[in-house]
Order: sequence, then structure tokens, then C-alpha cells
Amino acid sequence: MIGVRDDTATMACPVCGDAFRAEGRQRFCSTGCRRQRGVRTAGRPSRRS
Ligand SMILES: [Zn+2]
Repeated sequence: MIGVRDDTATMACPVCGDAFRAEGRQRFCSTGCRRQRGVRTAGRPSRRS
């Protein structure tokens, strides 16, 4: 991979393992994966759907 010094970096999603560009503090490829991970890690979800 090409190392680019920028705010964005390519990383693998810890949930689905798909590669994506993480912007800022983003750790997941999509909101869906973010929520799936959050359900397991977060002790107290802020809201329910
Ligand atoms: Zn994902």
C-alpha cells in the first residue's frame, strides 16, 4: 500500500474486514458496522432504533 500522510488512512473494518478510508476518528466502513460494534462494546447505548 502507498503511505499517504493525510487525515485519511486506509484500514480494515474490524467488523466486516473490508478495507475503507478512515476519516478522522472513523473506525468502521459504514454506520451499520459501527453500530454492530457499538452494541457489543458500548455498555449503555444512547438510544434504540
Ligand atoms: Zn465494515
